[in-house]
Amino acid sequence: MKKGYFGDFGGQFIPELLMPPLIELEQAMETILPSEEFQTRFAHMLEENVGRPSTITHCPNLSKDLGLDLWLKREDLNHSGAHKINNCLGQGLLAKMMGKEVLLAETGAGMHGVATTVAAAMLDMKAVIYMGATDIVRQAPNVNRMRLMGAEIVSVESGTKTLKDAINEALRRWIADQENTHYCFGTAAGPHPFPTLVRGFQQVISKEARRQFMDRNDGSLPDVVVACVGGGSNAIGMFHHFIPDESVRIVGVEAAGTGEPGCCDSAPLDHGTNGVLHGMVTKLLQTDEGQILPSHSVAPGLDYPGVGPEHAHLQATGRVKYTTINDGQALNAFKALSRREGIIPALESSHAVAYAIENKAELQGRSVLVCLSGRGDKDLGILDQIL
Ligand SMILES: *Cc1c(COP(=O)(O)O)cnc(C)c1O
Repeated sequence: MKKGYFGDFGGQFIPELLMPPLIELEQAMETILPSEEFQTRFAHMLEENVGRPSTITHCPNLSKDLGLDLWLKREDLNHSGAHKINNCLGQGLLAKMMGKEVLLAETGAGMHGVATTVAAAMLDMKAVIYMGATDIVRQAPNVNRMRLMGAEIVSVESGTKTLKDAINEALRRWIADQENTHYCFGTAAGPHPFPTLVRGFQQVISKEARRQFMDRNDGSLPDVVVACVGGGSNAIGMFHHFIPDESVRIVGVEAAGTGEPGCCDSAPLDHGTNGVLHGMVTKLLQTDEGQILPSHSVAPGLDYPGVGPEHAHLQATGRVKYTTINDGQALNAFKALSRREGIIPALESSHAVAYAIENKAELQGRSVLVCLSGRGDKDLGILDQIL
């Protein structure tokens, strides 16, 4: 396999000026990352600051309703409410040990910005967060959280003033400030080595979940493992250690948007074509001429026109099946898990829960382990608008 590629996907499609910091990062992954000092400090922070290991939870009531055996991996219980902190603390600590003082990040819904700011505060670093002007208005509570924890927020006025524009501007800032700054990329996408780096920090999800599930089920593996796919970081973390387990069906769930014919969605694996965006070859929502199409999902964290290259590869090899869930189905799952189990899931994670609900006929009697990537408190405002 070519370096930095997953089959035909991945690579480093970047301006020449970005090569030096990416090479520096790759070198740090070879020297600092495996060092005992890094590994010891990171393990300690995951335990003391994040609250790992996160538990797995059996859902007795929904299991009975659906006629299957539903389990959740509880990334919603992590400090700051989602899986993103695993990655941000990992990259933050690596950057700190590389001698950097600034963590630069892009954010759409604000969740990655918040997680990066939390990591920067813990590590006594500065957070600089690029955010589309439209998103700054839509996501005011997260903007307030970031400011409270000391982040500098940079408003991006280009393009559609949303996530993909914020990524472009943040990459430019990195070129200008590479000496002192680490770009803390938010998902398992972007140019090599980010997809590998982020997977490395998120694989703890399946490392724990696989052992926890076997401990609770007399050594058996789950029949089905499910996660939602935005850029793909919680999903690749949830899938990684199950990939060699041939008996386990692995399912990634993309957002189908409103589900009306011709509407925007966020499902490049299910509906996209091969192309280049944000430094990688992957599957994209684009026109025949290669213009990126607007994406949409009720779940802000899934609203991205691209996807991490390893998922495109896992789809191509057939090891992982990718499917879609629409806004209405996700809202239904959001309410069902809240009402039946007393757990309010993030709208993103609700897409993965909805897979079990919508496919219950086919899943009768099966054990289904779902990655609950985050908690839903952040989404109550969106719900107010819809319901
Ligand atoms: C950001 C986010 C996602 C989507 O990001 P991935 O990189 O695809 O995991 C999913 N769930 C929650 C709760 C999020 O905050």
